[in-house]
Amino acid sequence: MLRLPPFQYRAPHSLAEAAHMLSQEGERAMLVAGGTDLFPNMKRRQFTPPVLIGLRGIPSLKSIDGSAEQGLRIGSGVTLTSLAEHPLILGHYPALATAAGSVSTPQLRNVGTIGGNLFLDTRCNYYNQTEFWRQSIGYCMKKDGDVCLVAPGSPRCWAISSADTAPVLVSLNAQARLVSVRGERLVAVRKLFRDDGMYPYTRASDEILSEIILPPVDGWRSVYLKLRRRGSFDFPILGVAVALCTADGTVKDARITLGAVASYPVEATEAAALLVGQRLTPEIIHEVATLAAKRAKPLDNADLTINYRKQVTPIYIRRALSSLA
Ligand SMILES: Cc1cc2nc3c(=O)[nH]c(=O)nc-3n(C[C@H](O)[C@H](O)[C@H](O)COP(=O)(O)OP(=O)(O)OC[C@H]3O[C@@H](n4cnc5c(N)ncnc54)[C@H](O)[C@@H]3O)c2cc1C
Ligand code: SF4
Repeated sequence: MLRLPPFQYRAPHSLAEAAHMLSQEGERAMLVAGGTDLFPNMKRRQFTPPVLIGLRGIPSLKSIDGSAEQGLRIGSGVTLTSLAEHPLILGHYPALATAAGSVSTPQLRNVGTIGGNLFLDTRCNYYNQTEFWRQSIGYCMKKDGDVCLVAPGSPRCWAISSADTAPVLVSLNAQARLVSVRGERLVAVRKLFRDDGMYPYTRASDEILSEIILPPVDGWRSVYLKLRRRGSFDFPILGVAVALCTADGTVKDARITLGAVASYPVEATEAAALLVGQRLTPEIIHEVATLAAKRAKPLDNADLTINYRKQVTPIYIRRALSSLA
């Protein structure tokens, strides 16, 4: 049995109190929401923070407000189950409901949150293992070692961004509100990520994600397709999030974002631009999907073979676009 390392648990009742605790504790502390990513990682000794600041007791993080016309505000502590079942999200931002509903299992979705999903640790076959397993191969650069076992000559870590909701929030052009004792800032969700498997987030260590803001629907439709080995539960091997704004059958604007193909959600902007002014014919869908798939450069650090993942990417993009045609 894997046991948690010892830690002190702090339970703030407001966002201001949580921000204050985080600034006081500094690098010693980590935030925990549902704990469905962090606690397994702590059991494997990927993180051993002496202090955890729990966000569950903060009511303001748990609500969803707004409308399709005005846009939605989603508290970072909203559970994936609430998100997947919310009528406004199901009706107007269906890609987000699909992505949230496809994360892990019902039990984990009942406690796992959208905030924790966005800041899910990047994943790799050589990293998501027990301490004992990692020790037996001499560890790797992401934790306790100094070589990348996937690309030994590489100066960086290529661990993968595997959060299902991340590519969807990028395609929906969502914004994130980050709060600290220094104040707050609103950033595009796409700006939360960087192309670095070891340091994949731009969030400062004293900042807390308080909410996600979805823009008004305004003619946009969306879809999320996920490739995984087991249909019942599994991390994505590929996630395709497409959002399209159409009028009279012609595409006015488009966003295509690929998840689980790099250390950040990858936007296929050139391919999406090809769609603008076009009707969604099979020919244009084929052309756009082929170009978009070139943005995915799979490495040998996830499930299924590189070759299979390369071949299946344009097919999934084509299916996603066709479902919106
Ligand atoms: C068996 C299993 C299967 C899984 N399958 C999937 C899957 O298919 N797809 C998927 O995307 N995920 C999957 N997960 C991972 C996890 O369950 C989800 O990503 C979940 O949404 C994490 O949310 P949480 O609230 O539990 O996060 P936590 O574990 O509480 O936190 C995760 C990280 O986010 C940080 N964090 C949390 N809230 C905030 C905040 N408000 N501000 C700043 N930082 C914050 C924490 O400090 C931590 O670093 C799986 C996990 C398991 C154990
Ligand atoms: S990509 Fe390389 S450094 Fe990163 S977790 Fe995997 S083996 Fe380790």
